[in-house]
Amino acid sequence: MNERLMHCSLDLTRFTSQRPQAAYLHVPFCQHRCGYCNFTLIVNRDDLIEKYITAIRLELESRGDHGPVTTLFVGGGTPTYLPADKLEQLLELLMNWFPLEDGGEFSIEANPCDITESKAAILSAAGVTRVSLGAQSFNEQKLRSLDRFHSESDVALAVKLLRKYEFDISLDLIFGAPEEKLEVWENDLNKALQLEPDHLSTYGLTFEKGTLFYNQLIHGQISPIEETLDLQMYKCGINTLEQAGFEHYEISNFSRPGHRCQHNEGYWQLQGHFAVGAGASRFVSGIRETNHRSTTTYIKKMLAGDSPVASRENLSAEASAREKIVFGLRRLEGISLSDFYRATGFDVVKLLKKPLHRFISQGFLSLKNNQLQLTEQGLYISDSLWPEFLIE
Ligand code: SF4
Repeated sequence: MNERLMHCSLDLTRFTSQRPQAAYLHVPFCQHRCGYCNFTLIVNRDDLIEKYITAIRLELESRGDHGPVTTLFVGGGTPTYLPADKLEQLLELLMNWFPLEDGGEFSIEANPCDITESKAAILSAAGVTRVSLGAQSFNEQKLRSLDRFHSESDVALAVKLLRKYEFDISLDLIFGAPEEKLEVWENDLNKALQLEPDHLSTYGLTFEKGTLFYNQLIHGQISPIEETLDLQMYKCGINTLEQAGFEHYEISNFSRPGHRCQHNEGYWQLQGHFAVGAGASRFVSGIRETNHRSTTTYIKKMLAGDSPVASRENLSAEASAREKIVFGLRRLEGISLSDFYRATGFDVVKLLKKPLHRFISQGFLSLKNNQLQLTEQGLYISDSLWPEFLIE
């Protein structure tokens, strides 16, 4: 058996024999499309909520992946935008299909203004353990400039209610809003810390094609902040949160000890996951499938008994290994070369060859004691490193 074939057989064993232990459900409804958002979602079509739940039930039944998992994640859109009874119905459907193992993690994304006493009670009764709240900022002007529709006080109220039900709380924050000053970002970080979350995700604002902000950008109506300020803000986030006792464990994610997002940890280690809903992407037995992004198309397909899948990719052993490296390096602890070899049959150094040596010599990656990691410099430009690692 030549070396390449041996790799394939090892890797296929790895990717085909394990049933995923994670499941994702996409809920595409939102009250309003924020100017920077290009997620799969639909607004002003609450009339479709009922049909969407039926479509989810049909997709779950058609997949037949019934059984326990260790993490569940309900994302969107805004899952908590659903009326209370519909939210309850959907969560029950999901939990019946993918019961959560004891001690498992069940996350849901929420917008601050949706968290009412009754919805918090529904989340708790459904077994949700962790709520990821789209706080984004505590500055009214910045919230408006981000085209968000909640206020600072909504975030504090939501956190108070969620605490009552003992959820793990994660806050999403955005830096680099148009015309934002460093002081505004520092203040956002401090206000977030005062709420004592268990986890924080910080994202630099991006201008994605197809969004309102992208159009405004190309028409000169808004401008991004300077790159140096953007980097200063990212570093400021890392320093402030680390000083407050948070562990910086992934490029954009920080947790109190023991509060990492287990579901996302699974993604970054390229462990398989089930996924249902519009635009949802699953990775099972080495095959990645993505459903139609359009909510109406997704519903139509499911109600007609057709497949909702828009694209299907059977990843080669080598492509899987390369992706595993890229996702793995997003985690600050990086990749253990020997663990990686045991898991996939691939030698990282032989696989990545020249770009790996170049990035190490340029100081963007470090390889010490069998561990490959981003350096501090690498962290700041990480997105520019990945494309070369993915070329077979
Ligand atoms: S609330 Fe979140 S998912 Fe909905 S439009 Fe705004 S950013 Fe996008």
